[in-house]
Amino acid sequence: MKKYTHAWLAFMAIKRLEQAAIPQEHRANAQSLVKWFKDYRDFVISGSWYPDQVFKDMATSHIIKYRPDEKSKNVSFRKMPGTLRCYQLGLKSPLYQKPFTIEAGNLADRCEAFAQSIVDSFKMLRTEDKGNPISPSNNHIATRFFILSHYIADCHMPLHCDARSFSMDGNIHAFIESEWDKQVRASYELDTDNERFFYDPQGYPLKKKMTALMAAVEQEIVERPFKYEWGTGCKNTWDYMSGVSQYSYLMAYRMIPAEYDNTNLSKETFRGLDCWKEFDTYSKDIFSDAVESIARVWLHVWARYRQWAKM
Ligand SMILES: [Zn+2]
Repeated sequence: MKKYTHAWLAFMAIKRLEQAAIPQEHRANAQSLVKWFKDYRDFVISGSWYPDQVFKDMATSHIIKYRPDEKSKNVSFRKMPGTLRCYQLGLKSPLYQKPFTIEAGNLADRCEAFAQSIVDSFKMLRTEDKGNPISPSNNHIATRFFILSHYIADCHMPLHCDARSFSMDGNIHAFIESEWDKQVRASYELDTDNERFFYDPQGYPLKKKMTALMAAVEQEIVERPFKYEWGTGCKNTWDYMSGVSQYSYLMAYRMIPAEYDNTNLSKETFRGLDCWKEFDTYSKDIFSDAVESIARVWLHVWARYRQWAKM
């Protein structure tokens, strides 16, 4: 995904935490996290773009690449929260519960490591005296939240979880991502001099004439029920992101049938697929799921810190 798409998803996750119906027992945590974020919104773009611009760990940490493999003993698919659209669709996939191999990538490890490091940084901040040079700053921690959102969002891009390469020749991967970025840029007021969004009075990206897709996602992320839990069998960020990557892989095969790879999927062929004809439908599911996951992982991180702070 591209720069403004990543930043927009992070903003939408804050909006979901503020405006969706959060279950009573998690509401105080969600409210305090949103309040804390409000001071750091200018870091959203640089933070959520840091992995691509500075870390450049795309070949390993932005992906988990799956391939169907009859000979593999790897067949277990995780149970996820029922609110995730990729999960609902994946349960109906012909590849669901079929063996697979993971050929590359450590995206789930990266997300787990970031989640842990944010909790640790908060603990250091609270422990050290103000001004102590080893103490991390709130600015730094907020930036790490937005960096984490980048990896979570990438996991929801189906082609990041598919071992078939669509990044050469027709480069459908880049094509889809630039179509998305165009929609973000068309729907919000951008302060291009300062590389950020203009904000509305609530501190969210200021809307202009919204595309149908962007408007649908804005609505979905507020209306979709909020489940705090990871899903049966997932105990932490690593488990959860591993599960997301499995259903993202199934989504990739739903979008682009098994007979295609970079050698035979030109833009012309792609335009004939259902995936292109229903681009907005797939995109809405992918974006809304990404926002759901970012909000869920962030809230768990924050809750762990708050739990510790109470002790
Ligand atoms: Zn990336």
